[in-house]
Amino acid sequence: MTTILFENPIFLEHKVPEGHPERPDRLKALNLALEHERFSPLTRLEAPQGNEDFVLLAHPEQHLRTVMSAIPEDGINALEADTYASPASLQAALTGIGGAVAAVDAVFSGKADNAFVASRPPGHHAEKNKAMGFCFFNNIAIAARHAQRKHGAERVAIVDWDVHHGNGTQDIFWDDPSVLFCSTHQMPLYPGSGAKTETGAGNIVNAPLSPDTGSEHFREAFKSRILTALDDFRPDFILISAGFDAHYRDPLAQINLVADDFDWATGRLLDAAGKTANNRIVSLLEGGYDLQGLAESAGTHIYRLMRG
Ligand SMILES: [Zn+2]
Repeated sequence: MTTILFENPIFLEHKVPEGHPERPDRLKALNLALEHERFSPLTRLEAPQGNEDFVLLAHPEQHLRTVMSAIPEDGINALEADTYASPASLQAALTGIGGAVAAVDAVFSGKADNAFVASRPPGHHAEKNKAMGFCFFNNIAIAARHAQRKHGAERVAIVDWDVHHGNGTQDIFWDDPSVLFCSTHQMPLYPGSGAKTETGAGNIVNAPLSPDTGSEHFREAFKSRILTALDDFRPDFILISAGFDAHYRDPLAQINLVADDFDWATGRLLDAAGKTANNRIVSLLEGGYDLQGLAESAGTHIYRLMRG
């Protein structure tokens, strides 16, 4: 497998208040883990800055204007209860989108089998009209739309294993059967959505997990709900909202996964992508707030993508 990692130092310039969990140190911890020699075959490219038109693939222009007007000239400004912007935040967010779009282009052109984008801020909580939960724009929804518009993808599957429900992604694709959205997440937990009964146009598959459960429940839910849905849907492209906050060390949730669970889940999605999607997978970093848990888990995920 050829795997490309997209990164950019601008992602460290999106600043948040002291003590905020979604902090630049997350990417520094991942970068340290990537220094291991097992990652030497990884192709590492600078994520290009995306333009504002990409935002409009998943959001109305009003949302773009609202976010732009909330970017401060100096200091840090709150967009809402949990979501903050600093002067470089718009450039960081647009570069996260640019990385996601470049990753999609790389797998559809055959330059890579799969790709991982190590960006921040994350995206899966951003609804059509709303920045929330540390997210400004929905990177994964934009990547899905770009795959459809630019590369003719017809059946895009988004698998979201972040411990929080991807309410934004669900919101954007709620009535769009060309995109399958599958999520495992802790319930109850922020943002409160993600019940099994939320099914959209039959294209939404939620697999909520009870607090204090671990590998066994996660793998069972993944197999029985998500892998079966993927088999039925036969995606021609798979996107992963790769949050690593279901790790047992994570301070924001109470699911007890270990790094090996992300190896396992990645392997199952590689199998699925091999069947119907010509191996095409693009994975975007979402959450993960314990530095050790994040670095180990994301490293394990990327290494699995490299091995196929
Ligand atoms: Zn999360």
